[in-house]
Amino acid sequence: MMDEVTATIPHWRGGERWTGAGDRAGDVYDPATGRVSGRVPFASGEEVAAVVAEAVVAGEAWAAQSLTRRTAVMFAFREAVSRRREELAAAITAEHGKVLDDALGEVQRGLEVAEFACGAPHLLKGEFSDGVSGGVDVYSLRQPVGVVGVISPFNFPVMVPLWFVPIAIACGNAVVLKPSEKDPSASLLIAECWAEAGLPPGVFNVVHGDKVAVDALLTHEDVAAISFVGSTPIARYVYETGTAHGKRVQALGGAKNHMVVLPDADLDQAADAAVSAGFGSAGERCMAISVVVAVEPVADGLVEAITTRMGGLTTGDGREGADMGPLVTGAHRDKVASYLDAGVADGARLVVDGRGVEPSGAADGFWLGPTLFDDVRPGMSVYDDEIFGPVLSIVRAASYDEAVALVNASPYGNGTAIFTTDGGAARRFQREVTVGMIGVNVPIPVPMAYYSFGGWKASLFGDTRAHGTDGIHFFTRQKVVTSRWPDPAERGGVDLGFPRHT
Ligand code: NAD
Repeated sequence: MMDEVTATIPHWRGGERWTGAGDRAGDVYDPATGRVSGRVPFASGEEVAAVVAEAVVAGEAWAAQSLTRRTAVMFAFREAVSRRREELAAAITAEHGKVLDDALGEVQRGLEVAEFACGAPHLLKGEFSDGVSGGVDVYSLRQPVGVVGVISPFNFPVMVPLWFVPIAIACGNAVVLKPSEKDPSASLLIAECWAEAGLPPGVFNVVHGDKVAVDALLTHEDVAAISFVGSTPIARYVYETGTAHGKRVQALGGAKNHMVVLPDADLDQAADAAVSAGFGSAGERCMAISVVVAVEPVADGLVEAITTRMGGLTTGDGREGADMGPLVTGAHRDKVASYLDAGVADGARLVVDGRGVEPSGAADGFWLGPTLFDDVRPGMSVYDDEIFGPVLSIVRAASYDEAVALVNASPYGNGTAIFTTDGGAARRFQREVTVGMIGVNVPIPVPMAYYSFGGWKASLFGDTRAHGTDGIHFFTRQKVVTSRWPDPAERGGVDLGFPRHT
């Protein structure tokens, strides 16, 4: 038992586990018991620099390997993740708290990006224009950027790293992953999958840590690109700092996703969707629905249907068959719970109070049950803030236009959904909302791996989204070659004019 409590979760450097030499570290919890399950070292700037230096060398050798060889590693990585999916899911649940089935779904969505990256030979093909001028051809090619830093949040410890890492590596880059310090263990399993797949040491690395490690990546001159996912204030900081240091940066931020329910919607379908998308993963998803905009006269019936469904949800240890697990840490649970008092003080109606939950799990787990507020309005903190917990708010709107105005007034623009049986209204909605990912009768419209994931406004800093062709573009630099192999029989002579292709 002592060993388990004091277990150190190492970095991954040079193709193996590495404890590091630093003296700073953090606690990792099992959220379902509230107990410390491990310690994670916080890398110093010097440690990050040492890993980056090795990644530069390993990355150059990796980029020089043939596309065929690199692709063989990608297929083997896909197999390794698939084979170890249960183990990965168990690691997620043990430190994040989400229920096992949900964790398996997370692994699956990450695996799909690895599968997409297996198509790199096709995706990296350049363009070719034959004979743009006498004897002149023009073609483009894509080359890796070098060393890529990936900084990920706690809520998807497998999927979010896999949004970026397989594509970056398939494109010939080396990666330094800085996972969330709250649930760092899954990143080591990902590293083992790369090693099993035959990826050369130093191409994929994990450094654990906090702001110190992140800043070391953001300012290191040999880190060419940063892919970040996390809360909006940190995303903005990462974008500004990284770009100021000459890097390309994609920084995905927070969210407050609205689900609009029109009066003609199938009420049962809408209520099922609101409960699933509001309370899945205890609301700790960037694509969770946190606001339901009920266009009158639908609100009373919808609140009743949602409340009924909430009564059937069980909260407990994610390993033991509950519908919803604990929150990630005690501090986060307390912060989320504080919004319940704030909502009541602001005049919202607390329909279901999650503090009354009776969880099936240890008394000290970080529990908060599903919570529902009605009569929520902009200006209340439960509406304005990203709570990132199992708190669903109902806002009553008089019309479709009022509902869309609410969606568009939000500083965030990650996801949104409309529930309706009117195709014309759905079509109008998808054209009018200032949001990056839209669901029509689909509450969590996470794009497939071969599309790109990313929001608008404060939900994404930068112009490139995660995975899909955006991912290929982000992790490569393009060259355009203009080439002439003149016929030895023809000689143009000297011409000092600006080249014109005729
Ligand atoms: P976070 O912003 O606290 O942390 C994200 C990463 O940044 C972690 O690796 C963390 O160690 C690091 N970090 C934290 N503080 C830092 C600082 N001051 N300086 C430098 N680095 C710092 O986010 P989180 O709590 O781990 O994750 C939840 C957030 O992530 C939510 O806001 C959620 O909406 C967002 N998220 C967004 C998406 C998306 O696709 N837009 C996806 C998943 C999560």
